[in-house]
Amino acid sequence: MDAIKGHEDKSETRAEFVQALEARLGCEIVVTGTDVAVYCRDWHGDIQSDAVAVLRPRSTAEVQDCVRAAIDLGLQVVPQGGNTGLVLGAVPDAPDRQVVVSLERMTKIRSLDADNFSAVVEAGIVLEDLKEKVAQEGLYFPLALGAQGSCRLGGNVATNAGGVNVLRYGMTRELLLGLEVVLPDGSLFEGLNCLRKDNRGIDLKQLFIGSEGTLGIITAVSVKLLPAPEQVATALLALGSLEDAMTLYRRARRQCCDLMSAFEFMPPIAFELAKEGMPDLVLPMQAEYPAYVLMELSGSGLVDIDDLMVRFVEFAFEEGLALDGVIATSQAQARNLWLIREGMNEGQAKRGKHLRTDISVPLSRMAEFVSEVEAKIGTEMPDAICVSYGHVGDGNVHLNVLPGSRGDVDEQIYCAKQIANEVLDRYNGSISAEHGIGRLKKDDFSQRLTDVHRRLLESVRSAIDPALTMNRGCQIDL
Ligand SMILES: Cc1cc2nc3c(=O)[nH]c(=O)nc-3n(C[C@H](O)[C@H](O)[C@H](O)COP(=O)(O)OP(=O)(O)OC[C@H]3O[C@@H](n4cnc5c(N)ncnc54)[C@H](O)[C@@H]3O)c2cc1C
Repeated sequence: MDAIKGHEDKSETRAEFVQALEARLGCEIVVTGTDVAVYCRDWHGDIQSDAVAVLRPRSTAEVQDCVRAAIDLGLQVVPQGGNTGLVLGAVPDAPDRQVVVSLERMTKIRSLDADNFSAVVEAGIVLEDLKEKVAQEGLYFPLALGAQGSCRLGGNVATNAGGVNVLRYGMTRELLLGLEVVLPDGSLFEGLNCLRKDNRGIDLKQLFIGSEGTLGIITAVSVKLLPAPEQVATALLALGSLEDAMTLYRRARRQCCDLMSAFEFMPPIAFELAKEGMPDLVLPMQAEYPAYVLMELSGSGLVDIDDLMVRFVEFAFEEGLALDGVIATSQAQARNLWLIREGMNEGQAKRGKHLRTDISVPLSRMAEFVSEVEAKIGTEMPDAICVSYGHVGDGNVHLNVLPGSRGDVDEQIYCAKQIANEVLDRYNGSISAEHGIGRLKKDDFSQRLTDVHRRLLESVRSAIDPALTMNRGCQIDL
């Protein structure tokens, strides 16, 4: 595990900061000592950092107090939700100068308006809790990702999270109506309306979506809700190649109308990794084919979703696209199929440090892109294992590389990243389809910025946060 160390000669100053924070905010809010470590570690456990303290406010007013206290002491603020981000955005990098502000105690649903299909929710709510609570009212919040049992709504907004349902419902940006944000000077942006249509000038909330904690701390969110789907059908299909998977996707887009809610691609190694990540997992089939697709249709009312899925799967076999497959016949079976997809992440984490990418290319070039990168890595790093999977229906692939046993791990990760990025640039793709830039991808992001793009980013940031209090070191260096 790499450690980000503080400077020894600052230890006294740190103690003074802690004392001042406790005097101002109270010991109830300020976490110090060994309890700080868990907030300063990334999800994979690759990096262990440190901070002056962790602040755990219980209300928007207390978040304002925390920010004002940090400003007065000359400290920087690193906002944090569930700390499941994969690019070190919520992991401090200046331990003697930064406090983490965790939203974990702000978890209330302030109001829910079933007739307006909306709710106003505090930003620290765990995504899964939000989904479960609105489901009790027959409503649905469609954001769905592997980390939903730990990530928090404010973190989802700050990263503009994607997930498995984007192809039907869009990214987090499309699921919001309003935001409340504590700004870097401690003042409050009150933008929590629940209107579907509101064209009063520039839509300022958009600035904070995807800002990764650099422009303020999101304290509450107005979310759009939908009627809960009454029928969900899930199938796992084995295919001959990623190219066939993309063909199947195009067919599904047309034949399943707008009722397809997920289309996830997995390579055969997914089964092995899922089993390593979740040893109790019961696999529904052997990993005998080059490619697998996990597909979900959902809807309500008069459409028969199960029948639609059966007819589509029959079609996939007739066309020679599907070579094997199962359709879940119960919710438990469907959940089990999804666990393969989710267990893959755990399995990869257990194999140690590896390259994780979060790439997007035009949908039409996805198969070509993946095969070009994998071929290059196969030639230059024959010992390494490529694990390409993900939300291919959005043109988004996690082209991960597990280093081989020969050679330095960090060097192999760097080499694989350079190969992937070189091909990506030729495809006009994005180095971050959904995870954001954080601290991990800052250099790769910076190298690809045009002068105008950089100037605009710097202008926005320095207009809202001239003292650079918020998440300095994240996204770009100023
Ligand atoms: C197993 C696994 C699967 C994942 N799958 C997906 C996926 O499918 N799609 C996807 O998009 N991501 C995925 N992720 C990444 C991660 O879960 C998302 O980026 C998520 O939105 C982060 O939320 P969080 O609460 O954990 O944020 P954190 O990790 O705590 O923070 C992320 C960033 O947001 C900032 N931030 C957090 N809270 C606030 C706030 N209240 N106000 C302002 N800034 C804030 C932080 O400073 C940081 O820069 C996955 C992660 C894991 C571990």
